[in-house]
Amino acid sequence: MRHKLVIGNWKMNGSRAANTALLSGIVAGLNDFGADCAVCVPAPYLAQCQAELAGTPVRWGGQDLSVHACGAYTGEVSAAMLLDFGASYVLCGHSERRAYHHESDELVAQKTVAALAAGLRPVVCVGESLAQREAGQTEDVICAQLRAVLEVIAAEDVAKMVLAYEPVWAIGTGQTATPQIAQDAHRFLRNCLADKNAAAAATVQILYGGSMKPENAKELMAQPDIDGGLIGGAALKATDFLGIIQAV
Ligand code: PEP
Repeated sequence: MRHKLVIGNWKMNGSRAANTALLSGIVAGLNDFGADCAVCVPAPYLAQCQAELAGTPVRWGGQDLSVHACGAYTGEVSAAMLLDFGASYVLCGHSERRAYHHESDELVAQKTVAALAAGLRPVVCVGESLAQREAGQTEDVICAQLRAVLEVIAAEDVAKMVLAYEPVWAIGTGQTATPQIAQDAHRFLRNCLADKNAAAAATVQILYGGSMKPENAKELMAQPDIDGGLIGGAALKATDFLGIIQAV
């Protein structure tokens, strides 16, 4: 049975003072909910997470990484640097990176390889735009995004990744996918994973992301192929984030 996982994506939000309040609120409210939990934070706050979350059940990670190990790549952060600050996870191919930084499926795949090679758990994000959904292209789009990754990783590494289905039209819009829409996409993605490694596909955590809140989390999480959530806006308030974890 797959363990549930809830990851907060802080995006470009936070300050040292606000982070301390948020992290201590999360840690204080975390009873034994039975879900794994992590926050993916802006790189400057990784040290703060390491200092304030060490010894707690909350893990932390980055929101992006470089395909390069080191060198003349101004502004980039390597997998080794994330590990240096105790990160466990890193987001790969969030739709905001794909849209604003023109990250291609191939680049996202290379980032996934870099994360796996370093021993980080990549959270590979896939999802269709509203226009693509309306044109009936959802499965083609998310399949192509996932296949680009599966083509370059070893079959045994499938089990080391986390997948996030994040329909672009649901991110930050308040327009959540219905549980059935999300479940259909998750089942489809699991079948794609199975083409590469059937045994691993059954174990990979597939998270739903897109305006998940405490009020809609329970119904989403109850779907057989939804193994948790990738949470943006609602991860910035301890009570909301805990409410989602509790819904698991
Ligand atoms: C996200 O940024 O990954 C996300 C799901 O955002 P939100 O929850 O705000 O829609």
